[in-house]
Amino acid sequence: MEMTRELSFRKKAALSLLPPAKDGVYYIAQHDYTTRTEEDLSVKAGDILEALVKNPGYWWFVKALTGVSASKQGYIPANYVAPVESIDAEPWYFPNTKRLDAEKMLLARGNQQGTFLIRNSESEKGEQSLSVLDRGKVKHYKLKKLENGHYFMSRTRSFERLEELVEYYSKQAVLREPCKKREAPQTYGLSYNTVDQWEIDRNSIKLLRKIGAGQFGDVFEGLWRDTTLVAVKTLKPGTMDPKEFLREAQIMKTLRHPKLIQLYAVCTMEEPIYIITELMNNGSLLEYLNKDKGTTLGFSDQIEMAAQVASGMAYLELQNYIHRDLAARNVLVGENNICKVADFGLARVIMKKNENVYEAKEGTKFPLKWTAPEAILDNKCSIKSDIWSFGILLYEIMTFGQMPYPAMSNFQVIQMVSQGYRMPSPPNCPKVMYDMMMDCWKKNDQDRPTFEILQWKLEVFFDLDVIEDDLWDTT
Ligand code: ATP
Repeated sequence: MEMTRELSFRKKAALSLLPPAKDGVYYIAQHDYTTRTEEDLSVKAGDILEALVKNPGYWWFVKALTGVSASKQGYIPANYVAPVESIDAEPWYFPNTKRLDAEKMLLARGNQQGTFLIRNSESEKGEQSLSVLDRGKVKHYKLKKLENGHYFMSRTRSFERLEELVEYYSKQAVLREPCKKREAPQTYGLSYNTVDQWEIDRNSIKLLRKIGAGQFGDVFEGLWRDTTLVAVKTLKPGTMDPKEFLREAQIMKTLRHPKLIQLYAVCTMEEPIYIITELMNNGSLLEYLNKDKGTTLGFSDQIEMAAQVASGMAYLELQNYIHRDLAARNVLVGENNICKVADFGLARVIMKKNENVYEAKEGTKFPLKWTAPEAILDNKCSIKSDIWSFGILLYEIMTFGQMPYPAMSNFQVIQMVSQGYRMPSPPNCPKVMYDMMMDCWKKNDQDRPTFEILQWKLEVFFDLDVIEDDLWDTT
């Protein structure tokens, strides 16, 4: 029997044994979760749960109805579950997966012919695409809709719901097995009670090994409560006023996006101050690019990494937040080329909507080769000067981490750039990428694009889903 049908059969069988849910909804765990604190509950993907209290932030207090923790109660991250009867609970539904990610996941070793997933289309809002492994290649099909809203692959047969479409093509043995979900999403904070109280006991953190050093202090891989790997940034005593840092950190904590490094918690009661964030296994993007030099990273990886940075920055743009130090050294890389923007601690929130220009403080050190001319000369930082820096970051990505303006001193760069000089296209850089850099380096900051547009341009680069009417006509 095909996996898809077997899974939905198991789910239905488990549900049929349960009394009706109190508030009418049961939830199903989408990922395994292992307890981090005594109040947590361990669950396995597929376990059925009842939500007892949904209000504590992004952590829910639940009761397990099936599985290893059956009849036990505790906290789990709310983004690990989905209502049983919803499409989100379907093992093949990967709504926020990009086309390139879908390819990577489906091409992973061990997947058989017909492994598939359904995701939101990147180019058409509100539409879905089916990605399926077929003879060693991934094919993408747009799922089209008739006027009555029914889905179809082939005009001879349409389906009211995606579940029906999947069931039909599973019976035809065209779709065989849902793709394995790659990794659990980031939890919101480390546990339900660090969401609000994020000053944590420094004894709950063990520093395991040093993984880097910055101008403010060393960075360690750490273990929180012997359960969760984290990154711990230590601040050299005296580098920062704890009060000022805490004010900044309050704002940073409210900025949450899959492409921004999440600030989990802090230890500020004594020095050195600890800043606890999510851990990224591959260090900074600059180190990652330098190490690789194009041996395993190809053009599609470069675009994908640039798109991720643009996506994190588009979120900051929307929040009226300025990064002020965007560069490959301040982007961190995890598994599967996942990139997240880090070090937005120097940024400042712009309170007044129309006054989106921040006057840089005198004496502030600028990373000159990354900084827009108006920020250097007129002390004006805005999201548009971040766009300029993004252009330099694109240059770093396309050259595998080469220093921008090689062979030029900082002083020469300021002089030349303000006279209109721009870096030439890096060798082997496709014209569209160089055009994008040049757009970011327009003299008039208002002529530069937005991060939203840059993200969109980078994401649709490869989104050429097949539209073939009768390809799957199995009748
Ligand atoms: P600066 O001090 O000017 O910000 P920097 O950005 O290089 O310089 P840090 O942010 O302190 O300094 O980071 C130093 C190094 O530590 C990085 O280059 C990276 O290799 C590593 N690192 C920092 N944060 C993390 C993290 N969350 N996960 C994994 N490695 C990290």
